[in-house]
Amino acid sequence: MDLHREIPKINLNPIQRGGILTPEARQALIEWGDGYSVCDYCGGRLDLIEKPNIRKFMYEDLPKFLGSEVARTTNGAREGIFTVMYALGKEGKGKYVLADGNAHYTTKVASELAGLGIKFVENLGAPEYKIDAEKFIPFLQEEKPALVVLTYPDGSFGNFSDAKKLAKICRDFEVPFAINGAYSVGRLPIKMNEIGADFIIGSGHKSMAASGPIGVLGMNREYAERVLAISKLAKNKEVCLLGCSSRGATLMTLMASFPKVVERTKHWDEEVKKARRFSVEMEKLGMVQLGEKPHNHDLMSFETPILYKISESHKKKGFFLHAALKERGIGGIKPGKTKVLKMSTYQLTNDEISKVVNAFREIIEENRELLK
Ligand SMILES: *Cc1c(COP(=O)(O)O)cnc(C)c1O
Repeated sequence: MDLHREIPKINLNPIQRGGILTPEARQALIEWGDGYSVCDYCGGRLDLIEKPNIRKFMYEDLPKFLGSEVARTTNGAREGIFTVMYALGKEGKGKYVLADGNAHYTTKVASELAGLGIKFVENLGAPEYKIDAEKFIPFLQEEKPALVVLTYPDGSFGNFSDAKKLAKICRDFEVPFAINGAYSVGRLPIKMNEIGADFIIGSGHKSMAASGPIGVLGMNREYAERVLAISKLAKNKEVCLLGCSSRGATLMTLMASFPKVVERTKHWDEEVKKARRFSVEMEKLGMVQLGEKPHNHDLMSFETPILYKISESHKKKGFFLHAALKERGIGGIKPGKTKVLKMSTYQLTNDEISKVVNAFREIIEENRELLK
């Protein structure tokens, strides 16, 4: 079995850019790679282990970073979302989840597994596909949900909605409000308490330079009593986390990268600048950036009609693009895709971004004949 991994020099895949390990995390991965490696000094609770100092991370560093009173790690953002939905759903105060129409598929399956229905507040359509916080109101007036979830930003367009406004609306209706920050926590400065949300969820392998799977979940004490209730059967174990969540290298890579992750969120404005430049350059080549414009996140979707046109008569069909990019050391575009491309410039240098733009320019030039 060949388990070798081809790693492109420049990877444009949005889901992978924020999960590239720091050297510290790569070292931790080797050191803590054995199963249950963090459990040597465990007295029964993962979050209270002091050697390695998970306790400090979980009770000081992480909640401070998330702007919450309480924080835990989960096995991923989806598990965090599910845990909250399940715990609140069980209380019977609402039968469904209210989410934005740009929600990730994991919000859907989490609600399904939690035994809740789900309703969506649709986006405003092309070309920006924005979500209007006020459009949540009629749903809330009709029937109170168990939970409102806002995808912030969403993983299709990289749009930010007005989270503070929605938080206020949810407070007025007295319904719990969760921020799905899979694409924000670890990339940009974001604090649950500043937004006024009740929960914040992040993804370690997507945005916090961790190998994962691992997620982070923040909330205040009042909700922690409900969501992190202790088992009646097993001493001290938090039921909704099934006793322990991320245990081993997943957590240690997250902790190893954490200081650098905190630092990188302070330079978010540079990431936005790079993304905007990329968008402008790509549009000069005939692509159309979807979602908010000017854009506020590194994740961008582009309609690329010119590449699609080439694919129609190219001998490699839609696969020409992947092949041509690969020759140039650029990966992260799925083989066969040419119509709509999702890309991220996160943590790429300006030189690398220019290389990507030039690659697209060259690829269009060398296929000029096919565009006639
Ligand atoms: C990637 C993603 C998730 C899932 O993250 P995991 O940590 O892999 O569970 C959830 N929501 C959004 C918006 C995402 O982009």
